[in-house]
Amino acid sequence: MATDNQSTGESQPRDEIAFGEALLKVENLTKHFTQSSGLLGGFEMNTDTFVPPITRNPQKVKAVDDVSFEIRKGETLGLVGESGCGKSTLARTILRLIEPTDGTIHFKNDDLAGMSSGTLRKKRKEIQIIFQDPQSSLNPRMKIGPIVEEPMKAHGMYDSDGREERAKELLGKVGLDPQHYNRYPHAFSGGQRQRVNLARALSVNPDLIVCDEPVSALDVSIQAQVLNTLQELQDEFGLTYLFITHDLSVVRYISDRVAVMYLGKLVEVADKEELFENPQHPYTRALLDSIPIPDPRNSGTRGVLEGDVPSPLDPPSGCRFRTRCPELIKPEGYTDGDEYIEYRLSQDQWDQLRACIRAISYKKLESYAADELRDRFFDGTLPEGHAGEFIAEALSLVEEDSFEEAEQLLDERFVTQSICAKEEPSYEIEPEIGTSAHLSACHLHADDVSTRTE
Ligand code: SF4
Repeated sequence: MATDNQSTGESQPRDEIAFGEALLKVENLTKHFTQSSGLLGGFEMNTDTFVPPITRNPQKVKAVDDVSFEIRKGETLGLVGESGCGKSTLARTILRLIEPTDGTIHFKNDDLAGMSSGTLRKKRKEIQIIFQDPQSSLNPRMKIGPIVEEPMKAHGMYDSDGREERAKELLGKVGLDPQHYNRYPHAFSGGQRQRVNLARALSVNPDLIVCDEPVSALDVSIQAQVLNTLQELQDEFGLTYLFITHDLSVVRYISDRVAVMYLGKLVEVADKEELFENPQHPYTRALLDSIPIPDPRNSGTRGVLEGDVPSPLDPPSGCRFRTRCPELIKPEGYTDGDEYIEYRLSQDQWDQLRACIRAISYKKLESYAADELRDRFFDGTLPEGHAGEFIAEALSLVEEDSFEEAEQLLDERFVTQSICAKEEPSYEIEPEIGTSAHLSACHLHADDVSTRTE
C-alpha cells in the first residue's frame, strides 16, 4: 500500500503489513476512570462511557479491563455489546483520544500507547474514526468540500488545488455528487452526511477506520446503502475496519470476525459464521436470542436478558456476567471455618435453585410464603443437607420481607462459591466453522477445553 507525501501528496511506500496479518494488536488494554480523570474525561466521552460522581474516596470505574485482540489487515472486526459495556471507551483508548491506564496498542508494529504526542499526531493520519451522529460531527458553518479537505490540510497534504481535486474525487467515491462541493451540511440527509464523514476520513488515506455506531442514527434502508458503500470502499482501498455497534444484524452483515464485549471485558471472539452458528458464551447466546424474529405468525417472546448490567465501579468477581448468567455453574462445596459445607445437589436441583435465586434477586415473586416458594421452585421438596438448610433459611427471610438478607445469604452460600465467581474465565476452543481461533470467557469450557489460557 502507498501513502501520500505530506507536502506534495505524491505516493511513497510505507511499512508494509500483508493482508491477513495483524494490523492492530491490542494487549491487556485497560482504562480505569478515577474521580479526576473522569471529570476531565467527561468532555470527550459519550453515553457509552462512564463518569463517576465526585466522592471523598474516589473509586475506579473499570470501563475497559485487560482487553486483548487483534485486527488483521483488510478485515472488518465487529465489536458488539449492550449500551454502556465500554465499546466506545475501548475505541477512544485505542486512538488515544483518552489515555490508557495500562496495556499496549501495536499498530503496524509501533506502540501507540507509548508514543509521544508529536509522533502520535502524525500517526493519527493512518487511523481515522467515524462517529455515530453525522450531524454533530460536521461543522454547520463549513461547506462540505472544505470539511473533507480539513484533515489533508492538518497533515500538510497537497496544495490547495490538489486538496480540492481530491475532495471532489472522494465525494464521488462515497456516492455523493462532486458538484455539491460548495453546499452546507444542512442541505444533506443523515445518510449523505455520514458519507461526507466517510470522505473526510478517507482523505488522508488511512489504513484503519474505526466506525463507532456509524449507521445507528440512520433509517434501516439508508443503513444498508451506507454499509454497502463501506464494503465497496474497503475493497477498493484495502481498508481495515473496527466496526462498533449494538445491532447484531448490522454486525452480521458487515463483519468478518466478531468480538462480544460485556462490562469492560471481551467475552467471546470468533469468525462471524462461527459466532452466529456456534455461539459458546451464555451472554452471546442471550444477545442472539433477543434478536426479534420478523415473522407475524411467531408472537412468542424470545429469550430476553434479565437484570441490569452491574456497576463498573464494582464489577462482579470472576466472570462479570455471573450476576445475570442463566448457566451459572454449580458449586461443589467449601470449607467454612472448621466445617466442610457439602452440597449434594443434582443438576436438576441446582437448576431449580438457580431459578429461585434469580427470582429473588429480580423480585419476580407472586407469593412470599416460604411453603409456596418451596412448592413453586423445588416441587415441594428442598435438597438434603447444608444446601436445603440454607435455602429454607433464605425462603423464611423472603417470607419476612427481608429480600436483601435472603439474597445475601444465597449469594454467600452458593453463588460466590461457584467457579464462576472465583476465577476469571478465558478459554480457546476448537471452532466448528472456519479456522480462526474461537475465544470464549466461560468456565463451561473447563472440562473439554483444548487450551486453557488462564
Ligand atoms: S463463567 Fe459461569 S457465569 Fe460466566 S458465563 Fe460461564 S457459566 Fe455463566
